[in-house]
Amino acid sequence: MNFITCPRCGRECYRLFDSVCRDCFFETFKLIELPHVLHARICPACGAHLHRSRWENIGSIEDVVLKAVENALFIHNEAGDVEIYMEPREITPYIYRVRAEVDALVREEPVHAEAETEVRIQRTACDMCSRESGRYFEAIIQIRAAGRFPTEGEKSRCMAIAREAMESMKKKGDRLAFISETLEQKEGLDLYMGSMNASRQVCRLITSELGGSFSESPTLVGMKDGRNLYRITFSMRLPEFRPGDVIRFRGKIIQIKSSGKKVNGISLENGSRFISTPEELKGAEKIGNIKDAVLTVLVSIEDSAILVLDPETYETVAIKKPMSLNAEAGSEIPVLKTSYGIFALTQSEIPQAK
Ligand SMILES: [Zn+2]
Ligand SMILES: [Zn+2]
Repeated sequence: MNFITCPRCGRECYRLFDSVCRDCFFETFKLIELPHVLHARICPACGAHLHRSRWENIGSIEDVVLKAVENALFIHNEAGDVEIYMEPREITPYIYRVRAEVDALVREEPVHAEAETEVRIQRTACDMCSRESGRYFEAIIQIRAAGRFPTEGEKSRCMAIAREAMESMKKKGDRLAFISETLEQKEGLDLYMGSMNASRQVCRLITSELGGSFSESPTLVGMKDGRNLYRITFSMRLPEFRPGDVIRFRGKIIQIKSSGKKVNGISLENGSRFISTPEELKGAEKIGNIKDAVLTVLVSIEDSAILVLDPETYETVAIKKPMSLNAEAGSEIPVLKTSYGIFALTQSEIPQAK
């Protein structure tokens, strides 16, 4: 094998790198470059960090520190098979020192380099947290009930649904998915929401679980960058009658089974199916709830009537025989006493929890 003389240092070598020997070449070759000081911005409230003018949630402070070093670390473009090892050290809660070691192949020669940098952390409220604390909102959800006030149970369920939805939408990256204020009143609940889309999602979730419907209406609140700025009000109406309610409608006694855009029910007098809409049912009278059903003694069975004991007065009364009666005289059957009389229920109509 022929030796070549390095024109720079005069030593003999087997091959030249850019017309000098290996040592002379790597003497000036910079595998990595890393600034001595780096800055990272972190939101003290939610831990988000600012990356290329966007706030992102990427994890712990250490993750943010390592990310900052990774972004600032320049590696020579001739390097192949690059392996990076980084070791962060917390000096103070605001200052980290990070040592970076890099192994790579350059022109088939293994190269190693080390560098150290200081990452200084600045704490500033992110876009979302400054909006949240500034009571920023894009939309209002007004939760009401048709023809009545929402119950405490409904209000707290609505709150829970809204909070859960915000959690999962935040995780998916919707940084405006927050509730900036909650106003609870006798007639319902007002939620001031950071995001319009998140609000619509909350309305969908609530109505699919509790029934009812919602509508949207925009209000012009100003201008931004030459465009009209709207705020959306979502008006939600929980249904007047809920599953389990027993109502009197056009002379019929109906037990409500489900209540959404359509209301489904069943007649307590002849077992027939009932379908209507919340609008049609305006003016219907709630006369009880299936939860108030009690057991009473079935005294005797006749052709079209049965005799039962009135659960309050214990007098024997004749009521209409239900369509499917598979009880015998002397046994107990569930009944619902209302101001329109006593109605016999089949066992399947009684909520299981009771
Ligand atoms: Zn040389
Ligand atoms: Zn934040």
